[in-house]
Amino acid sequence: MGLTSQSTGLGTLRELYEVELENQDDIIVGLAGNPNTGKSTVFNSLTGLKQHTGNWPGKTVTNAQGRYEHRGRGYVLVDLPGTYSLLSSSVEEEVARDFICFGNAHLIVVVTDATSLQRNLNLVLQILEITDKVVVCVNLMDEAKRKKIRVDIKRLEEYLGVPVVGTSARKGIGLPELKYAVARMAAGEIVPRVKQIQYENSVEKAIDIVRTQIDKMGIGGLNSRWASLRLIEGDAVLMGAIYEHMEKHYGYQTVKIEIMEEEINKARLLLREEGLDPDGLRDSIVSSIIRTAEEIGNDTVYFGDREYRKLDYRIDRILTSRAFGIPIMIALLGLIFWITIEGANYPSQLLSNVLFRVEDGLTQLFMKWGAPRWLHGMLILGIYRTLAWVVSVMLPPMAIFFPLFTLLEDLGYLPRVAFNLDSFFKRACAHGKQALTMCMGFGCNAAGVIACRIIDSPRERLIAILTNNFVPCNGRFPILIALAAIFITGTRGAFKSVVSTLAVLVAVVLGVIITLVISRILSRTLLKGLPSSFTLELPPYRRPQVGKILIRSLLDRTLFVLGRAVSVAAPAGLFIWLMANLSVEDVSLLDHGARFLDPFGRLLGMDGYIILAFILGLPANEIVIPIIIMSYMASGAMIELDSLDALRELLAANGWTWLTAICTMLFSLNHFPCGTTLLTIRKETRSWKWTLLSFAISTLTGIIICFIVAQGVRLLGFV
Ligand code: GDP
Repeated sequence: MGLTSQSTGLGTLRELYEVELENQDDIIVGLAGNPNTGKSTVFNSLTGLKQHTGNWPGKTVTNAQGRYEHRGRGYVLVDLPGTYSLLSSSVEEEVARDFICFGNAHLIVVVTDATSLQRNLNLVLQILEITDKVVVCVNLMDEAKRKKIRVDIKRLEEYLGVPVVGTSARKGIGLPELKYAVARMAAGEIVPRVKQIQYENSVEKAIDIVRTQIDKMGIGGLNSRWASLRLIEGDAVLMGAIYEHMEKHYGYQTVKIEIMEEEINKARLLLREEGLDPDGLRDSIVSSIIRTAEEIGNDTVYFGDREYRKLDYRIDRILTSRAFGIPIMIALLGLIFWITIEGANYPSQLLSNVLFRVEDGLTQLFMKWGAPRWLHGMLILGIYRTLAWVVSVMLPPMAIFFPLFTLLEDLGYLPRVAFNLDSFFKRACAHGKQALTMCMGFGCNAAGVIACRIIDSPRERLIAILTNNFVPCNGRFPILIALAAIFITGTRGAFKSVVSTLAVLVAVVLGVIITLVISRILSRTLLKGLPSSFTLELPPYRRPQVGKILIRSLLDRTLFVLGRAVSVAAPAGLFIWLMANLSVEDVSLLDHGARFLDPFGRLLGMDGYIILAFILGLPANEIVIPIIIMSYMASGAMIELDSLDALRELLAANGWTWLTAICTMLFSLNHFPCGTTLLTIRKETRSWKWTLLSFAISTLTGIIICFIVAQGVRLLGFV
């Protein structure tokens, strides 16, 4: 199976970083840095955009460009993927490196973490080897201060030979100074004085051989010393890119490249004579860089308390331990669900009371005006009622769940989740970072599918994309929560919310298990291969910003998702009302559809209306429950639906048992992705084949599981 980068979305990742200037006078600024240093925070503060920030490495994958103005000049800021180095070959590194080398940036801002500056300096030094148009931003100064770490900015500036600005981006401190430094660098008011890293003598001699030739030929703005080193190393990908770059600039013929290759061979020969293997040159280069970074770090960073990460280590020893890691993870998730269910109950009730009272008022108004029945039916019983249900069922749980989840994200817990699940994913021959993409899927599967770009290997990325739908998104959470709350637990009681929590928790854990099983099956069949290794850094725990979390989760997530649901629910409501009221041979279209699907639904422990609701809910899962309700109401059982208890009665009157609720929950967890997610999969994989496969895999899984559960329970005589 040919998996090219094109077919798996690598191309899309690159496209994000291609800049097309609207205003030709604008300055292009690349924002580079290790993951999790606050790049996106800097990006957002400067551009006023809302790039997703979060305390886990590798999440910058969506919107990458923004613009700001400073003293009458425009600056286009490009948020590059976070990388630790530019010398290995992960997708992020390739994209960042290509942008720095071959993109047309005027300068690069490297964002570093003041609390681990020494490690961050490796990347700074590597970038300084490529270009000296650099401004270094030492971010997280507030956190450094708290940990009693002091960075001597002036001294660092002397060492690096480029401007260095200390910032606390989250509070906006130092950003005006950063803008100023960028402006001066761009205007050529600052002359960089970068000292080159000194390599071993033989390496320096080899560099000189190739460099002389390159300087003679010209290399289109690329640093010739850096390019020589890469050519001598024989990095095939980079060699191709460098040649392509030279050809673009000068239209070089192969002859010229051949001349250069002669010099490269000479240099490699010289290294061999001096006892160095040119192919193993990278190790020697990397150790020179690390040594230099260490020297600079030792001389510019002072630790008041060397043990500052001790507490983090201690917490990690428990949170990622074999014995407690997974149980704590499940307990935390359970706690979040419990708070959500318990907390959402009352506001849900209140909202539905208010909204249905408004419905009564509207109905009376319609009657007073003598409006035709069909108009009242379409607008109030169709559109308004569906909207009211979507809002009252979805809004409260989302408004509680999202902030809690964002809190965990901000604290830095998500990478620990990935760490705990890593060995399971390895055993499923998939990638450990898949756990992070699943976490994103909790919010929205389309976002989860996009997040799969953080996985380098095309094979493993595809597995992650195809299985992301097995974690319930916020559109499906309300189904799980509502059914668990009103049906499974049945009567009121002290343990009601605990039992519903357990039900939702079991559903989610089941989703993870199914993900692992399907990933394994895929890697044994269609997507054969071994898991690739990767290093996942556990970032320091950070104090979350409660205010920002609330705003971000309410505005960015809750209202966004609700808006999407509402915009789908309104036309869907109208459509369902029409289906329920247009008849053929005295039977409504809705009933025709439901009757047709009924035998199939019964096999799976549900009925025709439920299956129809899932099918009609393709545009957005949020509307599945409202469709079920409307269908039942339209087919006779007219109940005043102003409470969850009333909903329970309605469902019970239509033959629901706890088995129906469980099967509906299971099917909601395992059925085709929603329309938006399917389109995103198509976009990311650039192939309908994979899109259809994701449709088929999840639907088949749902059918098989529901069939086994429904028939098993019946056989055992429980229902
Ligand atoms: P990126 O991966 O480099 O884009 O990093 P983000 O911008 O997503 O930031 C990572 C985490 O660091 C987030 O939780 C931010 O809120 C936090 N953060 C960013 N800048 C600062 C800062 O100056 N001080 C503190 N204390 N936290 C920050």
